[in-house]
Amino acid sequence: MCADAVQPHRIIRPDKDHFLSEENPFEAMMSRFDFAAEKLNLDPGLYKILRHPEKQVTVSIPVLLDSGEVEVYTGHRVLYNTSRGPAKGGIRFDLAVTLEEVTALAAWMTWKCAVVNIPFGGAKGGVVCDPSVMSPGEIERLTRRYTSGIIETLGPDSDVPAPDVNTNERVMAWIMDTYSMAKRHTVTAVVTGKPISMGGSLGRKEATGRGCMFVTREALKRLDMPIERARIAVQGFGNVGSIAATLLQEQGARIVAVSDKSGGIYNEAGLDVQDVKNWVLEKRLLAGYPDGEAITNAELLTLPCEVLLPAALENVITSKNAPDIQARIVCEGANGPTTAKADAILEEKGVFVVPDILANAGGVTVSYFEWVQDRGGYFWDEETVNSRLERIMVQSFEEVANMAARHGVTNRIGAYMLAIERVAEVHRLRGMYA
Ligand code: GLU
Repeated sequence: MCADAVQPHRIIRPDKDHFLSEENPFEAMMSRFDFAAEKLNLDPGLYKILRHPEKQVTVSIPVLLDSGEVEVYTGHRVLYNTSRGPAKGGIRFDLAVTLEEVTALAAWMTWKCAVVNIPFGGAKGGVVCDPSVMSPGEIERLTRRYTSGIIETLGPDSDVPAPDVNTNERVMAWIMDTYSMAKRHTVTAVVTGKPISMGGSLGRKEATGRGCMFVTREALKRLDMPIERARIAVQGFGNVGSIAATLLQEQGARIVAVSDKSGGIYNEAGLDVQDVKNWVLEKRLLAGYPDGEAITNAELLTLPCEVLLPAALENVITSKNAPDIQARIVCEGANGPTTAKADAILEEKGVFVVPDILANAGGVTVSYFEWVQDRGGYFWDEETVNSRLERIMVQSFEEVANMAARHGVTNRIGAYMLAIERVAEVHRLRGMYA
């Protein structure tokens, strides 16, 4: 397939009707992909290749429950594209997991790794389960059996999982151990987001939030808005939202609202993020925090502020609430917080969106550093990790914003264009193995 051989092709232009169901993640992702592909005048063969996942694995996972009963769960692992390197992406344990969603998220990982230009393809995994009602032993047995079910795809050179929704470093340790027992030697580089003591990287846990801070700072700079006068509302107070809020406050910004699943708190004068963290550490939930006004998660999204940082769930900014968004900048800490329909509204309103595949790429960037450190057997100090992360985030921000400006498109489409171009370039160079 040659770039010069441009034939008339059948890329559908995503006019309003083409944006299908707001909630369908694969279609939402593909509508942006199609638009960016058309802007790039992508070769029709490459277009077809990049619209399909390379491999989808679905496994049944029998688990012996503590009660003595057996339950059978369903798990997926999707390798979307591996042209640039090993497939990379998290594993989530959630009742909402579907093969379609995992496929969309695997495609997202492909674009995300390409946007920050790290040598990985994209993957995602998921098990349909509710870990909040399972014991640690049940979760361990589920993790190990799932790992064993997908073991053919796994490996430091082929497919490298990481934490995602409802999974953590403990789960990564079990995956690493199960894989290593099968290989008969310890293979640390098969997962990232591991505990530091077994080959994890310093700074990995904070990396997604830290990356959000870097790109928010760059976006404010680009719009000539001083960070000291920026009011920031953060939806989600987990690993991403709480770290981003802490670091942005350190930079001088005023965090006016935060939220978790129990609701939000608003304080126009600015919250003391450390104090909120201490409250959550003790009480587990934000609800009841005294130094602010209680608000709902929906209210948080439309507060008066300079920066809105959705760092929790997918599809929270929709065609229904996008007209009411008051923020000048939306920095997407979560994967897919804005629907395709809402994109068009935000664009019309002139909102500067830092898209998810750039904004939350700090996590996978430090996963890359972890993989490099494991393979080299030489570990970096935290300052080295953070400064290398900063360099990549700042450069990627520039590249995305410049691509968007050059083509007169949104940052999201600019990010897709940058990513698709990088993935397509490798396909062109490698050629097609028939
Ligand atoms: N699950 C994270 C993401 O969506 C991290 C993936 C990784 O580090 O491989 O970006």
